[in-house]
Amino acid sequence: MKYNTHVSNPDVILIGSGIMSSNLGAMLKRLKPDLKIQLYEVADEIAQESSNAWNNAGTGHAGICELSYTPNQNPDGTVDVSKAIEIFEQFEQSKLFWGFAVRSGMISQPRDFINPVPHISFVHGQKQVDFLKARFQAMSAHQFFREMEFTTDRETIRSWAPLLVEGRDDRPIAATKMNSGTDVDFGAVSRKLIHWLSEQPGCGVATSHRVMDLVRTAPGWRVTVKNLSDQSQIKSQAAFVFVGAGGGSLPLLQKSKIAESRGFGGFPIGGQWLVCNKPEIVSKHQAKVYGQALDAAPTMAVPHLDTRMIDGKASLLFGPFAAWTTKFLHRHGSFLDLPGSVKLDNVGSLVKVGLYNLPLVRYLIQQGTQTMAARMKVLHDFYPAAKAADWKLIDAGIRVQAIKKEDGQAGIVHYGTEVVTDADRTISALLGASPGASVSVSVMLSVIQKCLPNLLESMAGRSMMKQMIPTYDENIQATTSAERFLEVDRLAMHDLFG
Ligand SMILES: Cc1cc2nc3c(=O)[nH]c(=O)nc-3n(C[C@H](O)[C@H](O)[C@H](O)COP(=O)(O)OP(=O)(O)OC[C@H]3O[C@@H](n4cnc5c(N)ncnc54)[C@H](O)[C@@H]3O)c2cc1C
Repeated sequence: MKYNTHVSNPDVILIGSGIMSSNLGAMLKRLKPDLKIQLYEVADEIAQESSNAWNNAGTGHAGICELSYTPNQNPDGTVDVSKAIEIFEQFEQSKLFWGFAVRSGMISQPRDFINPVPHISFVHGQKQVDFLKARFQAMSAHQFFREMEFTTDRETIRSWAPLLVEGRDDRPIAATKMNSGTDVDFGAVSRKLIHWLSEQPGCGVATSHRVMDLVRTAPGWRVTVKNLSDQSQIKSQAAFVFVGAGGGSLPLLQKSKIAESRGFGGFPIGGQWLVCNKPEIVSKHQAKVYGQALDAAPTMAVPHLDTRMIDGKASLLFGPFAAWTTKFLHRHGSFLDLPGSVKLDNVGSLVKVGLYNLPLVRYLIQQGTQTMAARMKVLHDFYPAAKAADWKLIDAGIRVQAIKKEDGQAGIVHYGTEVVTDADRTISALLGASPGASVSVSVMLSVIQKCLPNLLESMAGRSMMKQMIPTYDENIQATTSAERFLEVDRLAMHDLFG
């Protein structure tokens, strides 16, 4: 759906219509119904970049199956699961907010964007089997993962996900499973929330509008926007700007010239999937199955075999594979994006990233030059009987990894999500990718707490936030609050799945 509505003198400008801006816009409007909000999106439709269902894996990252969130095995053999617990709690906030949006009538038909899909971790070889068992012991001791099951039994694994054992040799295998995992269409929920926002008084949403420049003014920022339909230019001013432009955030942040943006660079990594639409194969797999990372693969490139529900149709996706690109955006990017982002303040970090991360460089070269046969070999680790003729290669989204100089050290690649905010707290920009979309509500909550804390100071603001995210001021990680966790989880599950 296309939009072209404009509000005069907005209080807040949102750049981009992905999962970040959509959550932020919806939360802000609920917190202060008279807030004037303007959203600009360069594409002619909402959420067509990273948040679009085909451009990401749609995993509701809750730390259940992703072995990359539990990489560290202690000398005594135990596994550190703290990162998995943290991600679980953050995704729980997303479920709670989306559940509230359904309950309060802002959006409807949650099955359009979230569906229960078991999350499975799957490994082979004795070393990995031992690791998975130790991980299971640590995970299942925590209230979040209490229902997790572990098995080394082939028939049990067959009953969970038959493709994993079809045609497999007799090397040891193991798996864990939790049924409460999810598949999420982040694009669909963005579209629903932005549609709701567009219908609120004092809100404007304009697609085919590219933000070209940002200049600091006395009470905030003046934003120059190009209407791509007639090439006209608009200037809009607001006290607070959120740059939720995905891959387009870094160039805009650089244009803002805020001191906090200095030293940041971006390195784009394209993604590709193998997709299978054959009903007789698709119907045999109803799970998201994550394995171990391949050698130097970045954490976000851990292979997985997933059931996807997109536009009501099930398919199987395997990947991601990395691809070379110099574009920062899939649809509206330019091959000049990467060279154009190299500035005096970040060139050193970018060069050092190449020099100090040679395994990553080698991984990217290997990925970019690999054949279909090589990709099938990776798939065979999960689905040994897979045939190339049943799968086709498609492009996924682009992740612009944030690169930063830290304490004069080599450039560090940030695989997580980075929020860059100026000292005045009048502009905030989101860089980086994974586990981005799943933790978007939690990340946007932190933007509100940091930049617009006045919205949470009144009784009414706090009460609304408590309704939207009942745990926003609680620590539900603490094992002592097991009952409280079950109570809020039941609420989210009821709102989303009935
Ligand atoms: C291959 C891959 C797999 C992933 N898998 C997962 C997963 O399984 N689970 C998960 O939680 N996350 C996953 N992610 C990460 C997730 O997709 C992103 O973190 C999330 O979608 C980012 O949302 P966003 O709103 O920041 O950006 P986007 O969704 O990219 O939205 C940014 C918007 O800004 C617009 N824009 C850009 N520049 C301008 C401008 N100048 N003016 C106006 N508009 C502009 C763009 O057109 C776009 O619509 C994956 C990412 C990739 C690439």
